[in-house]
Amino acid sequence: MKKFLIAVLVFTGLFLQAQESADKLLDQLDQQTKDYSKIALQLWDWAEMGYQEVKSSGLLQETLNKEGFKITSGIADIPTAFMAEYGTEGPVIAILGEFDALPGLSQKAIPTKESAGGVAGHACGHHLFGTASTAAAVAIKNWLKANRKKGRIRFYGCPAEEGGSGKVYMVRSGVFDDVDVALHWHPGAQNAASAGAALANKSAKFRFYGVSAHAAGAPERGRSALDGVEAMNVMVNMMREHIPQDARIHYVITDGGKAPNVVPDFAEVYYYARHGNRDVVVSIFDRMVKAAEGAALGTGTTMDYEMIGGTHELLPNLTLQKLVHDKLSAVGGMTYSSEEKAFAQEISQSLGQEELKEEIALAIQPYKTEARAYGSTDVGDVSFVVPTVGFSTATWVPGTAAHSWQAVAAGGTSIGIKGMMIAAKTISLTALELFNSPEIITKAKNEFKEKRGNNFVYKPLLGNRPPALDYRN
Ligand SMILES: [Zn+2]
Repeated sequence: MKKFLIAVLVFTGLFLQAQESADKLLDQLDQQTKDYSKIALQLWDWAEMGYQEVKSSGLLQETLNKEGFKITSGIADIPTAFMAEYGTEGPVIAILGEFDALPGLSQKAIPTKESAGGVAGHACGHHLFGTASTAAAVAIKNWLKANRKKGRIRFYGCPAEEGGSGKVYMVRSGVFDDVDVALHWHPGAQNAASAGAALANKSAKFRFYGVSAHAAGAPERGRSALDGVEAMNVMVNMMREHIPQDARIHYVITDGGKAPNVVPDFAEVYYYARHGNRDVVVSIFDRMVKAAEGAALGTGTTMDYEMIGGTHELLPNLTLQKLVHDKLSAVGGMTYSSEEKAFAQEISQSLGQEELKEEIALAIQPYKTEARAYGSTDVGDVSFVVPTVGFSTATWVPGTAAHSWQAVAAGGTSIGIKGMMIAAKTISLTALELFNSPEIITKAKNEFKEKRGNNFVYKPLLGNRPPALDYRN
């Protein structure tokens, strides 16, 4: 009986100690909210697009460097990609951070649509993503240090998520090979840590080359590159009927000629193909190439194409997902101040919603083992080489869609910052638990190996092309 009592006391003591150090970490993060808010809003203001995030990447590197992290920049032949490491022994936990903005979406931090005068805007909240992940890396480092724990924490600065497939090159270069678990999150309109899916994606720019001529004076001498593009689009649009119905194809004509009286000698169309299974994406893409070849043949033009992006679907890890859900639930959602509420009400109205659903910002969505999602992310490739887990927080007013001006606006206010700090805390608590209970890592790895299959070989969908550093130029 005495032995039992001692065991109980020791256990309770350890539990209280763990609880105290976790509370300390959360307090520290609360105290640093102002500093991280400054960093996030600076990134928001710069709004740099994919592979052009020189200042944003630089500021995060500087922040981590000051905290004693060892920085390796320019990894995977990408100038704005970097790795920041702390610790020399123990499991390696990676935290992903993004920081690229979207073209054409400049917006002020006000509840009505108005450009901030820039070309790009943080309509996917990656300024919050990168900053929260940085805050978490620093908090975990402080905890490792204070508790003399063995563990390595690694922040991955991941450029060009939006269409640039930045992480694919990073995975391909092997920088994740010795990682035990990868943690990420994403800004959103609700707090949720369900096992989300994502679609595999393959994109390319198809370029047609014709012969210029006066469109009225000598049309017989011309061959229209735009005809090539249009013929390809007609064929691909017909193809939609004969592909799995949960596939997605989209395109924009990025160059259609300059003047109606000049037969265009150059035209370009930019395509995406997506599906929940990467093999289906590859087969649809191959058929799109055939359509392009046929279009060139029929219009007397020539064609080539450049792979732009290619990502795997997400491989969920339920062991980790459940853990993150518990931590997110422990941290909890947010309440709005009266000022935030007024802002949120106006945004909500602009979305055509009858009333603001403030309770969504406060709630944590119930855990689901399969949440539908039709977007794509280059986190997919990471999830196929290391057990990976993510979640979202309500950095945007409930009802807001990603890639909208409403997302940019909220991301530039204290609502975005509150969601960012919830994310930083959730990542930190998750990492603490993994360092304290390495058996969870083992379990997650076993699940990962089983799901991925024994014969899995990682094959990037974009092949061996070098990083498309100029895809936003
Ligand atoms: Zn995003």
